Amino acid sequence: MAEIEREAMEYDVVIVGAGPAGLSAAIRLKQLDADLNVVVLEKGSEVGAHILSGAVLDPCGLDALIPDWKEKGAPLNVPVKDDNFYMLGEAGQIRIPNFPMPPLMNNHGNYIVSMANVCRWMAEQAEELGVEIFPGMSCSELVYGDNGEVKGVVAGVFGLEADGSYGPNTEPGMELHGKYVFLSEGVRGSLAKEVIAKYDLQKGKEPQKFGVGMKEIWEIDPAKHREGSVTHTMGWPLGGNAGGGSFIYHLDNNQVYVGFVVHLNYKNPHLFPYMEFQRFKHHPMVAELLKGGKRVAYGARAITEGGYQSMPKMVAPGVALLGCSVGMVNVPRIKGNHNAMLSGKAAAEAAHAAIKAGRQSDELIDYETEVRSGPIGKDLKKVRNVKPMWSKWGLTASLALGGLDMWTNTLGFSLFGTLGHGKTDAAATEDASKHKPIDYPKPDGVLSFDRLTNVSFAATNHEESQPCHLRLTDPDLPVKVNLPKYDEPAQRYCPAGVYEVVEDEAGPRFVVNFQNCVHCKTCDIKDPSQNITWVTPQGGDGPNYPNM
Ligand SMILES: Cc1cc2nc3c(=O)[nH]c(=O)nc-3n(C[C@H](O)[C@H](O)[C@H](O)COP(=O)(O)OP(=O)(O)OC[C@H]3O[C@@H](n4cnc5c(N)ncnc54)[C@H](O)[C@@H]3O)c2cc1C
Repeated sequence: MAEIEREAMEYDVVIVGAGPAGLSAAIRLKQLDADLNVVVLEKGSEVGAHILSGAVLDPCGLDALIPDWKEKGAPLNVPVKDDNFYMLGEAGQIRIPNFPMPPLMNNHGNYIVSMANVCRWMAEQAEELGVEIFPGMSCSELVYGDNGEVKGVVAGVFGLEADGSYGPNTEPGMELHGKYVFLSEGVRGSLAKEVIAKYDLQKGKEPQKFGVGMKEIWEIDPAKHREGSVTHTMGWPLGGNAGGGSFIYHLDNNQVYVGFVVHLNYKNPHLFPYMEFQRFKHHPMVAELLKGGKRVAYGARAITEGGYQSMPKMVAPGVALLGCSVGMVNVPRIKGNHNAMLSGKAAAEAAHAAIKAGRQSDELIDYETEVRSGPIGKDLKKVRNVKPMWSKWGLTASLALGGLDMWTNTLGFSLFGTLGHGKTDAAATEDASKHKPIDYPKPDGVLSFDRLTNVSFAATNHEESQPCHLRLTDPDLPVKVNLPKYDEPAQRYCPAGVYEVVEDEAGPRFVVNFQNCVHCKTCDIKDPSQNITWVTPQGGDGPNYPNM
């Protein structure tokens, strides 16, 4: 194929992804120097379209970035009023009192927000400062310079033929070059994955760990709504089958975020995370809350869980990884947005200093130092053993030991040192023959819903004529290896029903319904054969979340 000619545009900093990390970086760069040329590229049809997060927001990141956010009308309108933690059994629950919890678990001073709306507001702040923001622009490739440094990205390729080739309607996109490129693609970023592999950035670190988070927005009976109430649960229905738990956050306007996270290091390939979530809503405590209400939106996204010991090296020549492209979620708090914002601010400050000193395309070492030794590192270090304890010792023992460890870490020491995570989530999957299938009740259509019906509430869309963005390295492997060995778990771990094994006269066939994809990246993470690679589809495709 002839070399593709593209126009190139030059910037000081090119930022991939308009989440809290990327937008914070853009805002901070322009606060420091109004003359810097900064561009943000976002694959969602608008800023916020792909943002899915509970969310209870710790405002410390926003305080550091825009101290007068209240006066500027940031959509943080619902302060947390009460904080509840329950251990669920099938028919009942035990409330764990707040007093034995370490202070870092306290939600006092936090806000229940729509992160999609917070990002829309941050984008307005960035644009007022002169940042160029282009939604509907997927960054599909990295551009390397002569010395192997990251020089820019290719964005805005549209209209490829179904086989990936260029056709009469293909727009080749353009190259955006920067003195520095920031990858703030969130969890399992596709360009970040390439950079981590190319520069071997995970070397010497624990593997990254993940969960899959699914979320519905419900409008409930006003009599049951308690604005500002936060509830977390563990226990039923997952029991010993997998780690994870739920969150129920009462926003304003009688809306409630109901969400469920399943840690992706589960062993039993028969486990069906989506159906665990649906079953959870039939617990008497939850069913009572939701009865009479209606589900108005659905979405899913992976969440990073590896924490402090899994953060890769986050800089390479010309490029820095930000936010959840590094993995900055404080797992017991289920919070990463504050660290994403702080990382954006730190990366911007390092890039600004470098550019001012006449540097470009090198490693922003000061950014990495600030992340590891500043507020982000301190936040994550205190909780570093909680996830490995869950994985090694199960729920009951790790609740007590994890609590103890968080307490002693608050005082500055740990009895356990730093525990490792061991295997990747893909490698944790065991043969189907070692485990019993799990019998899930059929959704009732009132509290629980089948996957495809729910996916329609994510308003996801992919133009059918484009190439499938879920690439199989070996197209025969799902049927030849994954089906006999693992009962092809893609049929179950995908929360959007993208993958099916269809039986016809010719035998079993693996079908990829990529149009349903909600960009959660679970397949890229959990496929036990690591045969699926998620790449960016063309800009504007994917979910269209309202106020997730
Ligand atoms: C179910 C769930 C609940 C959570 N609850 C909370 C909570 O209550 N509180 C909290 O603080 N945190 C919570 N988190 C964690 C939080 O969502 C993350 O820490 C945070 O989103 C990380 O921000 P980010 O900017 O790094 O990435 P993201 O918010 O994921 O933003 C990345 C952006 O980049 C875009 N993008 C990605 N790749 C490309 C590309 N190649 N080209 C162009 N654009 C691209 C995406 O579309 C997206 O808009 C939760 C996460 C999940 C999954």
